[in-house]
Amino acid sequence: MKLSSYFIPTVKEVPNDAVIVSHQLMIRSGLIRPLSSGIYCWLPLGYRVMLKVMEIVREEMNAIGGQEFHFPGLNPVELWEQTGRVQAFGDTLFHIKNRPLVLAPTHEEVVAWIAKNHISSYRDLPQIWYQIQTKFRNEPRPRSGVLRGRQFIMKDSYTLDASWEGLDKGYDLHAEAYRKIFTRCGLKFFVVGASSGAMGGSASQEFMIESDAGEDTVAMAEDGSYAANLEVASSLVPPAKRYEVSQPMREVHTPNVKTIDQLAEFLNVDHNQLAKSVVYWGGERPILVLMMGNDELNEAKLMSVVGAEVRPIEAERLQDLTGAEGGSIGPVGLKGFTILADNRLEGANELISGANKNDYHLMHIDLRRDCTVDGYHDLRTVQAGETSTNGKSRLKIVHGIELGHIFKLGTKYSDALNVKFLDVNGKEYPIIMGSYGIGIERIVACHIEQSHDGDGIIWDKSIAPFQVHLIAVGSKSSKVFEMAENLYDLIQDDGIEVLFDDRKDISPGFKFKDADLLGMPYQVIVGERNLAQGKIEIKERRTGERILVEVEKVLEKIQQLLA
Ligand code: ATP
Ligand code: MG
Repeated sequence: MKLSSYFIPTVKEVPNDAVIVSHQLMIRSGLIRPLSSGIYCWLPLGYRVMLKVMEIVREEMNAIGGQEFHFPGLNPVELWEQTGRVQAFGDTLFHIKNRPLVLAPTHEEVVAWIAKNHISSYRDLPQIWYQIQTKFRNEPRPRSGVLRGRQFIMKDSYTLDASWEGLDKGYDLHAEAYRKIFTRCGLKFFVVGASSGAMGGSASQEFMIESDAGEDTVAMAEDGSYAANLEVASSLVPPAKRYEVSQPMREVHTPNVKTIDQLAEFLNVDHNQLAKSVVYWGGERPILVLMMGNDELNEAKLMSVVGAEVRPIEAERLQDLTGAEGGSIGPVGLKGFTILADNRLEGANELISGANKNDYHLMHIDLRRDCTVDGYHDLRTVQAGETSTNGKSRLKIVHGIELGHIFKLGTKYSDALNVKFLDVNGKEYPIIMGSYGIGIERIVACHIEQSHDGDGIIWDKSIAPFQVHLIAVGSKSSKVFEMAENLYDLIQDDGIEVLFDDRKDISPGFKFKDADLLGMPYQVIVGERNLAQGKIEIKERRTGERILVEVEKVLEKIQQLLA
């Protein structure tokens, strides 16, 4: 490809909303252009990278027996109503105005629908179905460029199985394929235990890169033995004590005490004797959650315990229901609430909590004696520095960007849509499903996040738009251009992708800057002075290392470097 006629609109300035490096570099190097908030056009250079990523994904999916489909982006809303996901996705789901259709944000419904109509026997199973296709999500805050778009390309795959062992196998195959895909794309990634969120199902893992630009938070053991999304992470923390004797409960006046710290100071007690109450709506029912001391309630954990969306209760409603303000709420004598408590408080006594009366607390609460706790669960958010669950390491908290997510769905969708198969004995069972996603744009952006310098992008060979950036330096010399033209043909005829900066009216400095910005792995520089000695310069973009090669040996050298 010749730069003089190729559409690569590079720019020096980036828009104000481009705050992360990958977003800035993708605009500057002419890979993408925004059309509207969270909606991007992929320009020719960028699309070459996307195609390469898609090909790697396709090869690895085919290698585990995946069969490629292409499902429609337009789905009947009825199908989504049947699985309850019109509600679960809420505003994130795009609805079509003049037809009962939605724009699909993922394709579990369509896959289950096909299986329902076309799979009847255990003999038809297992299946691995995948596609590389556009998804639509009305993301509330599209930002970070293509990392969070309202339209994006996903590789989504689905396993259909007759047994739970089959599901485990399909899940493991995907985990292995994902490792290969991200490794081949030159990414430094890690895998974390994750929450299943609106997808439903049991086990799930996310593949991430570490990045301050990430919207996910991960707890990681310093020795690498553990990593989990903060939404599900746990640690080894000591439980509250159970004292031998539970003293009689009594009320204490605690004027102007609003926070746990103030309460601990006022009563001169340890934090682990305090049971903090946090109140949420879980559907129509108020839920009081008891946390130890200053432990922070983890909403994602609460949501998976409740099995539905939760939201903090409004201050006025809380007062209506309990007769007290937030700082004085407690579990004793509370009617009409579900009471949940964090595992740390299981069986605890000698606790202090709100008395459901402004400015009063109760002392010597015994959770077994004085109230009914409907369930103890792991509900706390882990903190940096806590001991990892194997007791051997400390946890650190890092930010990450999710590249991919694999889920064991189970029978959630087959139950909802009545997707059955007949087993060996002719008995009907729901098909067991798994679902697995990778963001194609995210691979591109994450690669740039991990592989750039002050001058621009540094592409890995595997997904670089071109392997070689050929530069003809010196606008006057026709010899230089002649030689560069010859080399261009030679390299291209060998099947190597080469971008040729054949522009005549551009200064060498400008050409070098552009080459560094665009980031092809190798720059082949044809200049007058070297050419006079029969030599050509090759520069490696990543290291900046330069070598001089005899004209006749250039192709051979490039072949060697790319091997
Ligand atoms: P996130 O937690 O970042 O919102 P998600 O959990 O909604 O992502 P999945 O439904 O698991 O994502 O989708 C599978 C993959 O699709 C993700 O791992 C991610 O790589 C990609 N993806 C999801 N949402 C977007 C988006 N808005 N823009 C670009 N890629 C996305
Ligand atoms: Mg996810």
